[in-house]
Amino acid sequence: MTEKGKTALSHFLNLTSDFLLDGYTRLREEDEPIDPPSAPEPQVSESPVPEPQIPLAYLIEEETGEELEEERPDNFTDSLEAVAADVTACEACGLAATRTNAVPGEGIIRPLVVVIGEGPGADEDAQGRPFVGRAGQLLDKMLASIGLFRDKNCYIANMVKCRPPGNRDPSYEEMRACYPFLERQILLLRPKVILCAGRVAAQNLLRTSKGINALRGEFVEISIGEIFIPALPTFHPSALLRDETLKRPAWEDLKLLRSKLDSLDEG
Ligand code: URA
Repeated sequence: MTEKGKTALSHFLNLTSDFLLDGYTRLREEDEPIDPPSAPEPQVSESPVPEPQIPLAYLIEEETGEELEEERPDNFTDSLEAVAADVTACEACGLAATRTNAVPGEGIIRPLVVVIGEGPGADEDAQGRPFVGRAGQLLDKMLASIGLFRDKNCYIANMVKCRPPGNRDPSYEEMRACYPFLERQILLLRPKVILCAGRVAAQNLLRTSKGINALRGEFVEISIGEIFIPALPTFHPSALLRDETLKRPAWEDLKLLRSKLDSLDEG
């Protein structure tokens, strides 16, 4: 084996053992280790009995998509900036009344991966940026462990762009009202894959009421607007902060994501 190969193998083994034992602490030298959670964070619930949900995307394509088109001039060309401006001005649901900042999303255009969470929490609401709290820091480390970064090859978004008060799950009506923004983002971004972070994103994007344990670990082709994209459900980083035993299956999901990207790259 070449020196380069040995270094790469040793790096990979370090990452794997760090992830399983310590939670990605050695991924990048400059990274601060994440403290273990002192109290459970009520950010998302990975409830074993999820509420059944109606196929969200399907309904919205039919109903809300048309409304948006009617408001646009014929020569309208969409952009991430236009989506962000519309999100910031949006009052389509009750979340507008309680938000400090809307959180449109961030990352690069034409990313390898779009990560979709459920909705902003307190830190995200304060800063207007997605996944910047403790769960976000863990998400960044998870992504970095497979060579993904929000400023290089990812885009980070949410099912709803405004914080549900008290970090409750977004309601069906809120997600439905917000879905056209996500659809516009995905159609502009055209990622190679989507990573559904947690039950809420997974159930609604895959249009199923199955729990995250049943959904994770397997790619499913989903349709968004007129395009089809492979989507991988995995645990929400908040769930990993609450329950260490989820780290191993989450690492398996990340490796699967990396292999998928590598295989798409080869093809
Ligand atoms: N949890 C989410 O689902 N999204 C965020 O942006 C932050 C926390």
